[in-house]
Amino acid sequence: MYASEATQKYFHQAADHLNLPCGLRETLLLPRRELQVQVTLEREDGCLANFVGFRVQHDNSRGPMKGGLRYHHEVDLDETRALASLMTWKTAVVNLPYGGAKGGIDVDPSTLTSRELEKLTRVFVDRIHDVVGPDTDIPAPDMGTNHQVMSWFRNQWEKYHGFNPAVITGKPVEEYGARGREEATGRGVGILTVKLMKRLGRKPEDTKVAIQGFGNVGSHAAKFLHDAQFPIIAVSDISGTYYQEDGLNVPELIRHKFHHPNGLLEGFEHAKHLPMDSLLSLSDATVLIPAALGGVITDDNVDSVSAPIIIEAANGPIYPVADKKLHDRGTVVLPDILANAGGVTVSYFEWVQNRQHYRWSLDRVRQELDHTMSEAFEEVWQRAQQMKVPLRTAAFMIGIERVQRATELGGGW
Ligand code: GLU
Repeated sequence: MYASEATQKYFHQAADHLNLPCGLRETLLLPRRELQVQVTLEREDGCLANFVGFRVQHDNSRGPMKGGLRYHHEVDLDETRALASLMTWKTAVVNLPYGGAKGGIDVDPSTLTSRELEKLTRVFVDRIHDVVGPDTDIPAPDMGTNHQVMSWFRNQWEKYHGFNPAVITGKPVEEYGARGREEATGRGVGILTVKLMKRLGRKPEDTKVAIQGFGNVGSHAAKFLHDAQFPIIAVSDISGTYYQEDGLNVPELIRHKFHHPNGLLEGFEHAKHLPMDSLLSLSDATVLIPAALGGVITDDNVDSVSAPIIIEAANGPIYPVADKKLHDRGTVVLPDILANAGGVTVSYFEWVQNRQHYRWSLDRVRQELDHTMSEAFEEVWQRAQQMKVPLRTAAFMIGIERVQRATELGGGW
C-alpha cells in the first residue's frame, strides 16, 4: 500500500531546492482529473459482483499521460493518485514525451476465472474509454495485469474508436506488442544496478543481492544480475523466502515458477526456506531490491534493514520516515522513478512502433533501453553529487524541472 502523502513529501524535499514560482507547487501536485467508476460483473454463477475502478490523470504538460493498470485488492483512489504522480516524475526523469497517469480496479484477480477477468476488463473499458486514447492517456500493465489484459482492453476500446493499437502498451508481441517489453522493467533494474555498483566501486562477484518479489519485475532483474555474475542469495514471494548463502540457481528458480500452477516458488527445494518477511532483514545482503508492493519499508521495520544499497524496483517501497533514517545511516537508495523506468521506456518504444507501423528487433529495443536508462542515471548521479542530495531528491529535481519548463512554455493552466 502506498499513499499520496508519501510522494508529496518526496516532491517537497526536491522542490525545496528549486526556486519554483508561487503556486506552482500546488499546480504540479494536484491531479488533472480523477475518475472513479463502478465496474459490475456478472459472475459465472449468475451473481453480480461489484468492483470500483479508477483512472487518475496527473499531468499532461510533457505529452499524453502514461501509466499502468493495477488489479489488486488494495487499489484505492489515494494509492492510484500517488502512483499517477510517480509516473509524471518517472517519464520526466527518463525524458520520455509523456505525462503521468495510473489506474486500476480494487479486485483480487486470483478469485476470478479468465472469462470473468476478461468481462471485468471490458466493463472497465466501457466506463473509461472516452478519457483514454493514443494522444491523451495510454495505459499499460502493472501489478495483477498482463499482456492478455492489454489485448482485451485494446479490443474493447477499438469497438468505440476504431483500429489504433497505440492506445495501450504491453500488448502481446504478436498483437502489436514490442519485443522486450515484458522483461524491460527487470532489465532496467539490472542495468542500473550494474551502473551504480561501478560508481560505488563494488565488484559483482562480491555483491550479494536479495530480491523481494519474484513476479515479472523481480524474476527478470534476478536473471539479468545472475548473468552479470552477482550472487542472488535470496528471493521471496507470498510462499516465503528462498535463501542460499553462496547464490541461488536463478534459471532453476525461473523454471520452477514457470511450472507451478500459480507461478510461485512454493516447493522449491534447492534453498533454505525462511519466512516471507525475513528477506528484508538478511544481514549478508549488500543490495536489497524490493520488487513487489509499495510501502514495505516503514518506520517500524527500517531498523532491521541492514543492506547498504537499496534499488527500488517496486513503486513506492519506502516510506519517507524510513527513507530519512536510511539516508542518515548512509544507505544508498536508487529511487523508483529512475530504477523501474525501464518498463515505461519500452512502452514508449512500443507506442512509437505502433504509430509508425514498424517493428524493432529485440537487439534494438535492448540497446535503446540501455541508452535511455544510462543517460538518465548519469544525469541523476551528477546532480546528486553537485547538490549533495540523495539520489531520490536529485531525480525528483530533474523531473520537476522538466515538467515546470513544459508547463511554463505551454502557459495553459
Ligand atoms: N506500470 C509500469 C510502471 O509503473 C509501466 C507503465 C507503462 O509502461 O506505461 O512504470
